[in-house]
Amino acid sequence: MLVVMEAGARPDQIEAVVRHIEKMGLKAHAIPGANRTAIGITGKPGRADPEILENYPGVKEVIRVSHAYKLVSREARPDDSIINVGGVDVGGNGIVVVGGPCAVESLDQSRAIAEGIRNAGGQLFRGGAFKPRTSPYSFQGLGEPGLEILAKIREEFDLPIVTEAIDNEALALVDQYADCIQIGARNMQNFSLLKAAGRARKPILLKRGMSATLEELLLSAEYIMAEGNYNVILCERGVRTFADHTRNTLDLSIVPAIKRISHLPVLVDPSHGTGKRNKVAPMSRAAIAAGADGVLIEVHHKPEEALSDGPQAILPEAFAVIVRECDAIARVVGRSLQPALAATV
Ligand code: PEP
Ligand code: MN
Repeated sequence: MLVVMEAGARPDQIEAVVRHIEKMGLKAHAIPGANRTAIGITGKPGRADPEILENYPGVKEVIRVSHAYKLVSREARPDDSIINVGGVDVGGNGIVVVGGPCAVESLDQSRAIAEGIRNAGGQLFRGGAFKPRTSPYSFQGLGEPGLEILAKIREEFDLPIVTEAIDNEALALVDQYADCIQIGARNMQNFSLLKAAGRARKPILLKRGMSATLEELLLSAEYIMAEGNYNVILCERGVRTFADHTRNTLDLSIVPAIKRISHLPVLVDPSHGTGKRNKVAPMSRAAIAAGADGVLIEVHHKPEEALSDGPQAILPEAFAVIVRECDAIARVVGRSLQPALAATV
């Protein structure tokens, strides 16, 4: 259920509706928009009838939302959400280019890469301290010392940090250090982790599971928002298909499909999406042309020595070219590169 308030509804009228919803034992999610506030109702209505709210002053209408996702939908919020990640806006008219290594390996490695990201005009730094690896014998990440390195990178290079939480324990730590918490493809339907992410203070970057449908992705985002964290960014990172010329099949058509029904920003990860360094630039350009709010790219200064995902990592110089090309394509579709923090001080 969704309570749509009149454009001129007063804060006390909104408050009265929220109080009534809570009295019915349900959860109220007030979602302010450019033209009106909507209040999403979650929880089991039981015998309570939310339609009674139609009689409240300031209420325009009460809508029964027919699909399973509610808070992520454009019915709840017609205009695009803009999510602030450590001072950088994701969504809206600007596009972001996020870069960094698959895994944080050392301070020197992260510094060398971060310097390239900053000089290229990249706005956010990505790097895993906790790595979900297919083999238990592969490098699993540095853990908390890796998060400390990331905090130093933010200080030194003015780049907000995106890093993954692979379980509830890591999430509590990542929430303390990062500017944005990544939930990886393998955890897209880890519902206990999603609920914990919904209670975290930081925005969440939710990656699409490798065999997840659009509706499953949106419902996972709904889990996070239903707990009260409305700062969710979606990320397409390729799905499993029969095609074997790439690691995954990057499903760019999900970008306009999401935009049609959801207000959440969408990034595209052409690195995991293709697994091949020579496909990262063309798919980055295509992602921006398709309407993505940015791209997430794995960068390494010595890809042949990378402890994970070397074959898909590009050099900092190649990253700089992608930033310029994404900006050029963004301009064709009436957008442009979001300024980096380093450029705005
Ligand atoms: C990553 O971004 O480092 C990662 C592990 O990605 P995914 O969860 O999409 O495989
Ligand atoms: Mn990786």
